[in-house]
Amino acid sequence: MPGLEDMVVVVTGASRGLGRAIAEELGRGGAKVVVNYSRSKEPADELVSELSEAGGEAVAIQADVSDAEQAQRLIEETVEKFGRIDVLVNNAGINRDKTLKKLSVEDWDTVIQVDLNSAFYTVHAALPHMTEQGSGKIINMSSFVGEAGNVGQANYSAAKAGLLGFTKTAAKELARYGITVNSICPGFIETDMVANIPEEAREKLLKTVPLGRFGKPNEIARAVRYLVEDGDYITGQALDINGGVYIRT
Ligand code: NAP
Repeated sequence: MPGLEDMVVVVTGASRGLGRAIAEELGRGGAKVVVNYSRSKEPADELVSELSEAGGEAVAIQADVSDAEQAQRLIEETVEKFGRIDVLVNNAGINRDKTLKKLSVEDWDTVIQVDLNSAFYTVHAALPHMTEQGSGKIINMSSFVGEAGNVGQANYSAAKAGLLGFTKTAAKELARYGITVNSICPGFIETDMVANIPEEAREKLLKTVPLGRFGKPNEIARAVRYLVEDGDYITGQALDINGGVYIRT
């Protein structure tokens, strides 16, 4: 596996939040970075300028990864631009929180499509390149909610649990090609996703976190960098970064 400075990294949903922090961390570390976004063109372009000004190479590519053809195009444009793909971070995600009684079929389908099916689409598109190279690192952004469940998040927790199963199977199948596949399970991290929770509910959530604070995007980004730079012997794992909000038994 090449060093970070020789790697080509695709981060889905990198215009904001965790994806942005991951793209920044890897880009500042010297990787060539593809900043994927769906709608937020301006922040994606800003990030590309910021990385370029710092001496890095980055490009923003618009693609709704919940659409198989657009996900395929994202990977193809990456390989056209940079010649290879070493790291794929499947980070793009949304939530549509409602209790089961109120959850519509559309709420279910949309979240499964964006948060779970997209990961298959990008991996499916990246595999021919990674297998030919004989190396690759795939990181899927799950959630502690995929491990623990959460009231009001049946669609989201199903998608995130699905990613954990997908990760384990992909790790077993792809090890022979030198490709590792891992998940990260964040707790509550300070991004728009958490900022959009009403204040009162956020205060209640905070009380459930043993470390007494929400996490910072950079704390997830540093873990991604660890997996990318030092994780050659780590595959099929789910890394919990959650302030203790969920502790596996
Ligand atoms: P966020 O601040 O809402 O950002 C979501 C990102 O995903 C945006 O860049 C958005 O881009 C992109 N995105 C959404 N739908 C997309 C699509 N169809 N195609 C391409 N990009 C798409 O969310 P976040 O908090 O950073 O979360 C990032 C990931 O971490 C998600 O998978 C989330 O489930 C997971 N996670 C977050 C937390 C947390 O506490 N924040 C905890 C556990 C897990 P546009 O603006 O261009 O649409």
